[in-house]
Amino acid sequence: MTGTSTPSDATVDRLRATVEALMPGVRADLEELVRIPSVSAAAFDQSTLVTSAEKVAALLRDAGMPEVEILRASRPDGSDGAPAVVARRPAPQGAPTVLLYAHHDVQPPGDPADWASPAFEPTERDGRLYGRGTADDKAGVMTHIAALRALLPSWGAGDGVGVVVFIEGEEESGSPSFADFLHRYRDRLQADVIVVADSDNWTVDSPSLTTSLRGLVEADLEVRTLAHAVHSGMYGGVVPDAMMAMTTLLARLWDEAGDLAVPDLVAGHAADLEYPEAQARRDSGVLDGVQLVGSGSILSRMWTRPSITVTGIDAPSVATASNTLQPVVRAKLSMRLAPGQDPETAYQALRSHLLATAPFGAKVEVTLKELGKPFAGDVSGAVYDRARWALARAWDGAEVVHQGIGGSIPFIADLTSVFPEATVLVTGVEDPDTRAHGYDESLSLRVLERACRAEALLLSSLTAEDVKTDVEGTDVKGKVPGDR
Ligand SMILES: [Zn+2]
Repeated sequence: MTGTSTPSDATVDRLRATVEALMPGVRADLEELVRIPSVSAAAFDQSTLVTSAEKVAALLRDAGMPEVEILRASRPDGSDGAPAVVARRPAPQGAPTVLLYAHHDVQPPGDPADWASPAFEPTERDGRLYGRGTADDKAGVMTHIAALRALLPSWGAGDGVGVVVFIEGEEESGSPSFADFLHRYRDRLQADVIVVADSDNWTVDSPSLTTSLRGLVEADLEVRTLAHAVHSGMYGGVVPDAMMAMTTLLARLWDEAGDLAVPDLVAGHAADLEYPEAQARRDSGVLDGVQLVGSGSILSRMWTRPSITVTGIDAPSVATASNTLQPVVRAKLSMRLAPGQDPETAYQALRSHLLATAPFGAKVEVTLKELGKPFAGDVSGAVYDRARWALARAWDGAEVVHQGIGGSIPFIADLTSVFPEATVLVTGVEDPDTRAHGYDESLSLRVLERACRAEALLLSSLTAEDVKTDVEGTDVKGKVPGDR
């Protein structure tokens, strides 16, 4: 810890006992939330999102938050976004404000036959609670509520920190109204520290702060070679069809080793954590005998280097195929970007590469569909010190891991652009066995209690001085993690 005081062991022990006593109620409310099938995907009943927003609002009111609202903003197409819950406790004079983010919507459950117990019927087995949303992210919602239950009753009007709770209702559908929401309700959401409780832990016994996330470029690719389809027997071998041109072009995205061949993209090195190839093979389900692609450490390839996946191709299906040279074929490309990469620059590099390497003079068109910025946390400030202290104490002295995630949470970039002075802490209740988005999603109940404890410790110890140091710290050039 730097500069600011650390709570005494007696204070830590008292808060630990308080949280422990709260856990049965936290667990019961989590189960009630899981029973609401609040899937935000458009094909599902959207009234479930109103039910879950109302439930979350009631829990926040009961926890003692003085202002609780259910709010909506507009999506880019003009339609209404899903209901979000915003609860506020204004900051006492001189105290910092912390925004606590989680989401109350969930992914679709998939095929019920795949689940060992019903998706929306929370069921405990071996210390884990199974069900859709038990971890992602209704446990995130309950972590915030548990911390407030532990602290608000003991805080007088002048005590503690300002709190804004923001529980979104459409994260699993790409947060389409998030940008408008931030714009519209900016004053309500203003904070010095933002805690995003929607990520992973390295293991059940090693807490993580997620300090890097990859960015995203999605683009459609169209390749044309003919004015119309012709007989493949008549012209095959002379005339290049669009499929031949497309597959040749796609193959030029990678070199022999499977590294990206698109030049001028940012690539970095991941932290030196133990993640052996055997574990990567097991976790991903890659078949025996199939080699992994790319170079550099496995975690660098997953977290801090770019990758491209062809996620769809429009072409005649096998069942309906005829002996024809296709005039046009389309593909969807999904590119992940290293932290530090500007998405627009990456898209231009991809586009230039596709146009420059098009075979046989084929007509190539690239259409941008989506850009998402990567995230890299500045882990050197006093707020990060505070968070590391809280996590270590909550996890019985375990070392805190700075973890990357290969996926993207683009709304974090939206948050940092609207609140550039705020420090973003990405925490979470997941662990390697959680299977978020998959069948048999589950939460470690041990992790839930530790996460609640950690957040209560963080909120009870954060000071105005921590936040001030951080804001000054952002002006210091050339500071590297671990520098202080
Ligand atoms: Zn989530």
